[in-house]
Amino acid sequence: MTITQEAPTPATGTAPTATVKHWINGQETAGATGLTQPIYNPSTGEVSGHVALGDAGTVAEAVAAAQAAQKTWGRMSLAKRTTILFKMRELMLTHDLELGQIISAEHGKTVEDARGEIARGRETMEFVCGINQASKSEFSSDASTGVDVHTLRQPLGVVAGITPFNFPAMVPLWMHPVAIAAGNAFILKPSERDPSASIFVAKLYQEAGLPDGVFNVVQGGKVAVDAILENDGIAAVSFVGSTPIAKYVQQKAIANGKRAQALGGANNHAIVMPDANITFAASQISSGAFGSAGERCMALPVAVVVGDAAEPLIAALKLEAEKLKVGPGNAADTDMGPVITPASRQRVLDFTTEAIDAGARAIVDGRDLVVEGFENGFYVGPTILDNVTTDLRAYCDEVFGPLLVVMRVDTYEQAIELVNSSPFGNGAAIFTSSGEVARAFSVDVEAGMVGINVPIPVPVGYFSFGGWKDSLFGDHHAHGPEGFRFYTKAKVVTTRWPHQATAAAASMSFPGN
Ligand code: NAD
Repeated sequence: MTITQEAPTPATGTAPTATVKHWINGQETAGATGLTQPIYNPSTGEVSGHVALGDAGTVAEAVAAAQAAQKTWGRMSLAKRTTILFKMRELMLTHDLELGQIISAEHGKTVEDARGEIARGRETMEFVCGINQASKSEFSSDASTGVDVHTLRQPLGVVAGITPFNFPAMVPLWMHPVAIAAGNAFILKPSERDPSASIFVAKLYQEAGLPDGVFNVVQGGKVAVDAILENDGIAAVSFVGSTPIAKYVQQKAIANGKRAQALGGANNHAIVMPDANITFAASQISSGAFGSAGERCMALPVAVVVGDAAEPLIAALKLEAEKLKVGPGNAADTDMGPVITPASRQRVLDFTTEAIDAGARAIVDGRDLVVEGFENGFYVGPTILDNVTTDLRAYCDEVFGPLLVVMRVDTYEQAIELVNSSPFGNGAAIFTSSGEVARAFSVDVEAGMVGINVPIPVPVGYFSFGGWKDSLFGDHHAHGPEGFRFYTKAKVVTTRWPHQATAAAASMSFPGN
């Protein structure tokens, strides 16, 4: 597998804007590499800043700080830990508009959508405010005569998270609150495309009273990722991003003796049955396909329409798409912002053109969209295609842009076969008014997260998040109870307090009861 990444530029030029730094041991640091990479505002197409690029030395510095801090943090009482976590949750509420604006400026999504991702990420913080409940261990009295057994779950030490651009606050929040609450120190390597949210979160942690060194941020790309995967001081790696990199990270982490969970890409399908409420289904699918410009791992780029549902659904989807106002993420009336890079935009245009050239019908064609006053922004309008064949990239690749394809089938059985033929298995949804069909779907479908009349079934923070097949490599899903298990190792303690009178002579047989 060949994996490439944009080449960094030396920082010695005339960087016109501020540089987003690393956060190590409670302070910002530029690191020693002298390398930076531009950050773009996708709404304007302008360079809005630069980000420092870390290397093995930067990671080693973060690991040293994390190891020192974890020794005390890992032994701190649950009461003291949760006091800090409660405070952090309050600070996240107080600052959510500010953080939402930071995200919107680097990602391009609307400020309201960014505040939505912060709210969903905050659920994990709320889950770990109750970590004293979630971390209760098992106890068996009198497992043998006078013998009790209990389990301990102890922190792994220093753990790391590597995250994608599309949820710069929420996806890291799936990881660090659980890891930290469980007594670990955490090193975050956020996406180099929108790195500022992580530094903002680091400062909130400090204000909440988290000891320096427990939460660290190393900025950068592949070099920083490889350094994390090769550093012996890091016990576990959580990754969220595209499937090829997820596979690479998981395999390399495991080869280096680390625990690994790697969540990959997706191509989520929604089945629409003829008995569905079509108006409702169309508005839900539209929000799933075009919300955040389709750049969600739980986006809904494929509608599988059964029988008579096709014509009314297509008409309703067209109305929904034509209502959407595309514009800069920070404008109050924008429904859908730009995509993240010119290359992402070009991918949507290419997939669309290729499908139309192969005979697909454009119900809505967003290729020529221009946003007045923002002509250099990375915009592409909502696009809906009908008559797409399964070999076309518009259907079978992860588009990660505002392109919805409508696939027509005659029966539920054909629909489920199509859904399950995808190599991905992140999420899937069905729109129906039949409990019987809905129940069958929840059993039949090969996906980790299932929506019944819910387009984007992202589990709440006290459940766990994860897909099947090429959407997840590793055994544990993220956050919630599975997250806690991932970030802790189990120990079983068997205890006896012998009384002099009952002390038995040594037995050479394996002990029974
Ligand atoms: P990406 O795979 O390009 O990047 C993810 C992370 O990997 C980033 O931190 C990046 O710096 C790093 N990286 C990139 N190239 C690398 C390389 N060659 N070697 C080592 N590290 C590398 O993903 P992205 O474009 O930032 O995010 C979009 C992808 O993430 C989509 O495929 C989306 O489906 C997926 N995603 C999945 C989930 C999920 O829960 N399954 C959630 C969000 C996003």
